Amino acid sequence: MSLVERFHDEDRCRTYVEGLRWPDGLECPRCGGKVISRITTRHQLDCDSCRYRFSVTAGTIFHDSHLPLWKWFLAVYLIVESKRGISANQLKRTLGVTYKTAWYLCHRIRAALNEVDAQLLKGIVEVDETFVGGEMEGKGRGYRGNKTVVVGAMQRGGNICLQVVRGTDRETLHGFIRKNTDGDTEAIYTDEWPAYRGVADEDTEHKTVKHRDKEYVAPGGVHTNSIESIWSLLKRSIIGSYHQVSAKHLDAYLDELEFRFNNRENPYMFRDAMLKLLRARNGSLFSSYRVPEFGVF
Ligand SMILES: [Zn+2]
Repeated sequence: MSLVERFHDEDRCRTYVEGLRWPDGLECPRCGGKVISRITTRHQLDCDSCRYRFSVTAGTIFHDSHLPLWKWFLAVYLIVESKRGISANQLKRTLGVTYKTAWYLCHRIRAALNEVDAQLLKGIVEVDETFVGGEMEGKGRGYRGNKTVVVGAMQRGGNICLQVVRGTDRETLHGFIRKNTDGDTEAIYTDEWPAYRGVADEDTEHKTVKHRDKEYVAPGGVHTNSIESIWSLLKRSIIGSYHQVSAKHLDAYLDELEFRFNNRENPYMFRDAMLKLLRARNGSLFSSYRVPEFGVF
């Protein structure tokens, strides 16, 4: 409700975007001039030095969508603040937009949430992999041919990092760990899958928990229960609000989950998501997107 109270009209939304874009006062995007006149009747800004006219959303992803800002605001809010996320179908109903528009909003907002400058995990890091995807008729529950592999890492008491990978081989898993953990991570905890062998070095221990023997917590608090709780969360959200997530779009969904989890104690989550959206350059990330014909998400 507070979001609706704060942003129920376009003027309020514009003022909010303006404050995020120019916290130190208006500036011309073309020449950097600081003396800007307001043409209030047309919601335009006019640079006194170069006469460039622009709107507060010029050059941002809000600009060319023709959607009212409040719909963007509400979509961002619903995506980042709801614990399990929201599907394009729910968004369609809540915002009163077409499925195509709802899908487009989900896609663009998720892509913007991708943490390009994510901090490396350190301390004690649990790493685990899981298989996402439907069961195939005629194949047993164990069949993995149509499933997508997701690998994840979680710093104890800290952030998570999730990624779709091509397999659970040594090269892939070691590559993921190298890329996402600090060089002097204290310890890496995994299950006993052989591909994890050799991740230790002089200053990083590798400890394993034997799932096969039902040893869910090895002596010394060695377990991977934290990252496994993320898999339950992931699977519940896929069942609860996404129904099917195609392999192609799973990565974007993982970014969203990652953002929500890593910002779980951030009181400025909405603002930070808006900042990310404003910084996502118009079009650059999304030039190749296509709205699928059928119900993905
Ligand atoms: Zn100018």
